[in-house]
Amino acid sequence: MQLEQLGAWVDERATEIENWLETLVNMNTFTANTAGVDAGMDKMYELADSLGFTVEAVNARHRLVKAGNATQGPRILLISHMDTVFPPDGDFLEYRRIDDEFVTGPGTGDIKGGLLIGLYAMKAISEMLPDCDVQMVVSANEEIGSPTIRDWYMGENIDADFAIGLEPGFPQGELSADVPLGVVYQRRGYCAINATIYGHEAHSGVPHEGLSAIDGLAQRILKINALNDPENGISTNIGTISGGTAGNTLAGVAKALITFRYETMADGEATKAAIEEIITTPTGHNPHLDIWDRGEFDVNIFIPPMERNERNQYLVDTVLEEAKRLGHNVVPIARGGGSDANYVSAGGTPSICGMGAPCVGLHSPTETIHLPMMIRRVELLTATLYRVLTEAEAKA
Ligand SMILES: [Zn+2]
Repeated sequence: MQLEQLGAWVDERATEIENWLETLVNMNTFTANTAGVDAGMDKMYELADSLGFTVEAVNARHRLVKAGNATQGPRILLISHMDTVFPPDGDFLEYRRIDDEFVTGPGTGDIKGGLLIGLYAMKAISEMLPDCDVQMVVSANEEIGSPTIRDWYMGENIDADFAIGLEPGFPQGELSADVPLGVVYQRRGYCAINATIYGHEAHSGVPHEGLSAIDGLAQRILKINALNDPENGISTNIGTISGGTAGNTLAGVAKALITFRYETMADGEATKAAIEEIITTPTGHNPHLDIWDRGEFDVNIFIPPMERNERNQYLVDTVLEEAKRLGHNVVPIARGGGSDANYVSAGGTPSICGMGAPCVGLHSPTETIHLPMMIRRVELLTATLYRVLTEAEAKA
């Protein structure tokens, strides 16, 4: 196939792509429903196999799909996942076509539409450039931070020259056929820390005989929130607090879940160290007993940022140029939240994200995509792959 035939090639497969989307969306793949996620992976294998790809297991439950003869570089890794945030006992379970344009259903945008854009783009590119090396990783638990594949992402395993995430393309306005869709050049990192503060319980009638852990936690919270630095993209949040046993008792224990986001790894590490220091530095003091409160912490999750740099700028520029050529409306954006592209980027691979289905209401019971645009995005992704692969070949 030639590049000029790509549009017609995609059109011919529109019904097939929609049928696969319906099949995958109607399978419940909530992260904790591991049997459902595994069944989704098996169904995805059927499609990948029929398209002529090989599929390997990664760390048992994740999958790596490979297209092309892989005899010519560079290697491009697409990043996707099978799990969704919708439990099987909830009431948002089915694929539903709203009209000619819109389709709603759990995971239509995050990320089954993107998964199909990836698979069909891999098929198209392997017909145009049979020697190419394009792979797609499909995580089984991305929605909880991909705990069992994080090591693989950040290690030597990928060996990719570029990575492209298939999280939804975010409309910069009301979802329509020509609303600008964001291609993500930067995602902030995310860290969650559990803090536990210990005081000394006493009857509130004799406060000099105790030390309130809640007071100690409150003082620490003020210090942690003082680390907020919006200009440099650092934002802290105390997500939950708990503590104490009764109104007439000085609290012996108080807990908080502290989270923060950051644009660079250096800021993430510095903020983490500052928060750990604030938690563990004794703050409340009872002079009568000469005791101080005490703080402990454990780091629940620490996701690296997808940093903006020259290497991923090349990918962004290529997407924007191809979008313009094809008449798609795409704009570069930064996102506050993380995705698996963050790990891949931290492992040293230039990465972008947001090349999946145009979607609104993701992670909510109104998750909806624009189906004709989702299908057109197969063409945009394939054209981007083609450019990156052939430009590298020309340089070599
Ligand atoms: Zn996702």
